Amino acid sequence: MAIRVAESVVAAPSREEAGGLPDGGNGADHRRLPAMDAPVVIEVTDLTKRFGAGVVAVDDLSFTVRRGQVVGLLGPNGAGKTTTLRALLGLIRPTSGTMAIFGETIRPGIAVLSRVGALVEGPGFVPHLSGRRNLELYWRAGGRALSDAHLDHSLDISGLGPAADRKVKTYSHGMRQRLGFAQALLGKPELLVLDEPVNGLDPRQIVEVRESLLRIAASGTTILLSSHLLSEVEQTCSHVVVVHRGRLMQAGTVAEVTASVASAYLEVDDPNAAAALLAGLPGVQSVEPSPPGIVVQLDGAERSDLVAALVGAGLRVDTVTPRRSLEDAFLELVGEHSV
Ligand code: ATP
Repeated sequence: MAIRVAESVVAAPSREEAGGLPDGGNGADHRRLPAMDAPVVIEVTDLTKRFGAGVVAVDDLSFTVRRGQVVGLLGPNGAGKTTTLRALLGLIRPTSGTMAIFGETIRPGIAVLSRVGALVEGPGFVPHLSGRRNLELYWRAGGRALSDAHLDHSLDISGLGPAADRKVKTYSHGMRQRLGFAQALLGKPELLVLDEPVNGLDPRQIVEVRESLLRIAASGTTILLSSHLLSEVEQTCSHVVVVHRGRLMQAGTVAEVTASVASAYLEVDDPNAAAALLAGLPGVQSVEPSPPGIVVQLDGAERSDLVAALVGAGLRVDTVTPRRSLEDAFLELVGEHSV
């Protein structure tokens, strides 16, 4: 059966449950997390994809997505995110490795893909027809009864509003993306796969798409989305799989990945003096400005050591927190931290 692939759109919502990424991640998160033993929805095992002789787009990547999770596949440009999603959807053949969705090994056209709604780069819409009409035609083209499409439900969740009855050629980029989103939601899929869903959207549209995703996630749909936007993953995902140069860097709940990086964020009255002082302390790996404060990557030193050194030097410390955000963890994981 045809899978539902449209053009790119969305980002995701926060969710419940921990359940495992590569090895069964878990843990406390500030969000409600789905149960650790929730059924496995996606299992990617040792996935490698080479293009030609030289390009290794995905390199021995493994991760697991469990029911109810909203998982962000996070990585910089060229990390292999799109390639991973395309392989997962049976759109390209992996060089090696296996992928399963709902326990079924993926190969092109496999029936289990009918339970998946996807939004990766792909076909556009017929411009002189309304959004609604486009969705009807799309659904029927797969030989399915319109009564199974839950078209109004999809349009409701995607938030397209009255624009659904306007010609697609009058749509803004954001409206097109929402139509793509509605298309992916046709038939109430159990799993949504979204490639860079908020790419190209303005801040207001990003918020709207995020809200749509939250509604979808709240209805129990599992979501895997790719993003290079740390803030999106942090705000909307329960879990994160960090990839870089095709390889898995880390996976777990957002809180776990963030906590895995020993770092401190400090606000002091003289950040330059503090940075110079702390950079010379034993157990400090690096110090970088992060206005209005500084971020210190720790390699053995405790946060209390930092505070003692600063106070001892006559500097005033206003704020000390274990970390600033997923961004710090991400930058450290992909090795692009500046000193
Ligand atoms: P982006 O957000 O920039 O698309 P990405 O993480 O989605 O990044 P991919 O699109 O999966 O990354 O690309 C991973 C690597 O594989 C890149 O070096 C890319 O140039 C290369 N690549 C992707 N598709 C092909 C292809 N069809 N032929 C050759 N190289 C490819």
